[in-house]
Amino acid sequence: MALDLDADFALRDQIMKRLAYLRDQSGGVVTRDQLTDLEINGQRRRIIDQSAGIWNPSDLNATLSILSSPTGPYDDGQVEGGYFRYDYKTGSIGGSNTKLRRAVELGLPLILLLKLKPGIFVPVFPVFAVRYDDDARQILIALDESLRFIEHPETLSEPLKRYAEQTTLRRLHQPVFRASVIRAYHTQCTVCRLKHGVLLDAAHIRPDAHESGLPVVSNGLSLCKIHHAAYDQNLLGIRPDGVVQINQDLLGETDGPMLKYGLQQMHQTSITLPRRKIERPSTDALEWRYEQFKAS
Ligand SMILES: [Zn+2]
Repeated sequence: MALDLDADFALRDQIMKRLAYLRDQSGGVVTRDQLTDLEINGQRRRIIDQSAGIWNPSDLNATLSILSSPTGPYDDGQVEGGYFRYDYKTGSIGGSNTKLRRAVELGLPLILLLKLKPGIFVPVFPVFAVRYDDDARQILIALDESLRFIEHPETLSEPLKRYAEQTTLRRLHQPVFRASVIRAYHTQCTVCRLKHGVLLDAAHIRPDAHESGLPVVSNGLSLCKIHHAAYDQNLLGIRPDGVVQINQDLLGETDGPMLKYGLQQMHQTSITLPRRKIERPSTDALEWRYEQFKAS
């Protein structure tokens, strides 16, 4: 028996809050184990399907989560201006797809799970199923609440198109960048080794406004909030050989422990690099950025 709609909404809300907590602790990801055994109100719940991409809990009125896996059998990575096209499960139009269509009819929020690595996911929520197309066997997912009620998502006006593109960046690309970078650095600040996911950011080496400022791990650094801000303000620089430099004026100041231990004592220390070579910061990017630090 499915819950009444109010209870269904409330339960989804609780699941998403719990998921947000777990995601933030880890620096942006959740594991399959966490998704298989999530504690909600003292009960254990599964919020990912064991093998398929669409998870339809029996007590909910519509699909709860959909999985997008670039290595999976579905051609579901189609992102277009704030919307995500998700393919039906193969086989009959009914079965798991019935509850996916119900999500459109009932307007219930969903969780989109982007597979980062085997067993590791970047959760994006809430997202909304806004339209289904049985002929194309696809469902259209709005990545943001504000894009839910637009009547013709295919023909957005220019300002809306820009807004929708920013939505894709904010809701999909940035979370994936953040999670990939923090994960590459084993959830620690590359400068001070602080290991709290909630206090970590993925900093761009070349800013994202720069033409080579791509959201790829080799253009990122996992930094704690204070070192991220110091890096962005050129109070802290990182030499291409990975040695930290603190701004000369700052080195001469006298103040409390944050200045002394958090910044001054980081001068001339080496950053901690990802174990995998391919995930280490690009020397070109570090060089470019270090020039900015020296010039400031
Ligand atoms: Zn730090």
